[in-house]
Amino acid sequence: MALTVQNIVDWIVKANEKIQANKDYLTALDQAIGDGDHGINMSRGFQETAEKIRGETYTSGADVLQDTAKTLMSKVGGASGPLFGTAFLKLSAAIKGIDPVDYDTFTGAIEDAVNGIKQRGKAAEGDKTLVDVWSKMADLFNCESDFRADRIAEEAKSAMEQTKSMMATKGRAAYFKDGSIGHIDPGSASSLYIFEALSEVIEG
Ligand code: ADP
Ligand code: MG
Ligand code: MG
Repeated sequence: MALTVQNIVDWIVKANEKIQANKDYLTALDQAIGDGDHGINMSRGFQETAEKIRGETYTSGADVLQDTAKTLMSKVGGASGPLFGTAFLKLSAAIKGIDPVDYDTFTGAIEDAVNGIKQRGKAAEGDKTLVDVWSKMADLFNCESDFRADRIAEEAKSAMEQTKSMMATKGRAAYFKDGSIGHIDPGSASSLYIFEALSEVIEG
């Protein structure tokens, strides 16, 4: 399969639905090891993004993801705004001019997104951030040879769960030192919803 412009619109709209439905959970995660605003930040950013995208007519997936990136950067706020913004900006750049988006192009796009997040946040795998989920997705896409809805959902969930036993070394959670151990990273939970939405779009 390949991702059409409509698939990409549906991806973002679905990601917003999941983030709205889990807003309180995201807030609770950030209350444990942060300042308790992650649910509010993400719900505001994705609500604005979904509204923007529903109001436009797109002829390319790259434009959908560019609008997503810009809206997230300006509306999410917090540490996570520029990080998710960078992820979607890199995805957009990597698929520019390619519609529908084939598997290999999308794999390269996810790799670029991971590298962008790492650079922006000066973070690596194991720091207990959204990098842990995005990086696992890049590994999965590299291992497989076609879109696998079931594997995306499974691996994203397991990557999110693995952040629980990590000690945070980046962002506000790092102030909690080993007190951050035993809690899921909020940005990884948001990332799970983004990849669950992708998985559902692929499933059709
Ligand atoms: P803030 O911490 O400014 O209140 P949010 O609560 O919206 O922002 O987002 C927190 C999430 O951002 C964390 O759970 C983590 O996944 C991610 N994060 C924070 N700092 C970094 C960083 N330096 N690199 C990568 N991700 C980070
Ligand atoms: Mg916060
Ligand atoms: Mg904050």
